[in-house]
Amino acid sequence: MANSVEFTNAVKRFGDMTAVDDVSFSIAGGETVALLGPSGCGKTTILRIIAGFEKPDAGTVRIAGEDVTRLKPYQRNVGLLFQHYALFPHMTIAENVAYGLRYRGCPRNEIDDRVAEMLELVRLPDFGHRKPHQLSGGQQQRVALARALATRPGLVLLDEPLSALDAKLRQELRAELKQVLAAVDATTIVVTHDQEEAMSLGERVFVMRSGHIVQAGPPNEVYGQPRSRFVAEFMGRANWFRGRLEARGNGLAAFVGANGMKLVVSTQHNGVGRGEVDLCVRPESIDLMAPQAAAASGERNRIPGQVLEITPLGAMRQVLIELQGGEQLLAVQPNRAGDAQVPGQPVVVGLPAEGCVVIPVAA
Ligand code: ATP
Repeated sequence: MANSVEFTNAVKRFGDMTAVDDVSFSIAGGETVALLGPSGCGKTTILRIIAGFEKPDAGTVRIAGEDVTRLKPYQRNVGLLFQHYALFPHMTIAENVAYGLRYRGCPRNEIDDRVAEMLELVRLPDFGHRKPHQLSGGQQQRVALARALATRPGLVLLDEPLSALDAKLRQELRAELKQVLAAVDATTIVVTHDQEEAMSLGERVFVMRSGHIVQAGPPNEVYGQPRSRFVAEFMGRANWFRGRLEARGNGLAAFVGANGMKLVVSTQHNGVGRGEVDLCVRPESIDLMAPQAAAASGERNRIPGQVLEITPLGAMRQVLIELQGGEQLLAVQPNRAGDAQVPGQPVVVGLPAEGCVVIPVAA
């Protein structure tokens, strides 16, 4: 059964350092949440408090409605996969997966059935008799996941589950991990400092900074409607323009850039008033047009510029543009054959109002 989690006003200090600073959140049973943030922001400490390896200095942890703040780790029915997922080297794969079940005194035949089921789930059905060193890194990672899930925990905590793997394997295993997690009836909290991993695994992403959750929401919302410059930059690349917000209404406002650039921007998601703001424009929300085509359609938020540099990235290409006012702008577009710009070419940049997110300068 998937267990809900309530983390309420939790504080954890190490000496005079506050690793978790009055953090509260609720996670529904069955939900998958990604805790995302830079190194040292307190992600692992939150996971360790939920698992019972750290006692919070203040606050409570409830799992499935029960206050577990003072319970030992083994009393919490939590499945764990920690950063250095080391399997027990002297045990076979089957023995590794069986470890938690044996610890709980499950009958032998039940253990055998469950181990077979778990190895099937992580697509390693014939590997039970091997030792960990006879498996690749990706296979060992899958065994560690099978071990974490074998006791059918209602809550699964994964700390950087893919960090030991190289980039390509990470991507492959990420999709697999998502499928496995969807197949088991558990709530999952995954800690990562990789925004792609957080966005692909989490139904909600909690972005952390210095012991606080600074924004929480579905991945596309956190990416597309960041409420601070920190969140915007942590979630991906962005172009920035400093300026003022003027007359507003209907979820739109007039933005006047430092060099006089005028744009209509969306204020729907941020309750930003008038005054100085940073404008965030994601590279993929930018339209690039040939000057003739742009003149024909005559819409707002068009800025003439010139292509400076084109970098192919495989599926996408990156286009660096110098705008008329002198600023540089990065656009990312599908890398289709036949419609490539060339350096030096004049181009018109279109910035859709809903792709222009305003953020108060102080945030
Ligand atoms: P990473 O991505 O590097 O694992 P994190 O976000 O998981 O980082 P935590 O491991 O939660 O960060 O650490 C938060 C802060 O608390 C860090 O500054 C860390 O140095 C400190 N810290 C964590 N555990 C201890 C400890 N046992 N003793 C002293 N300081 C600690």
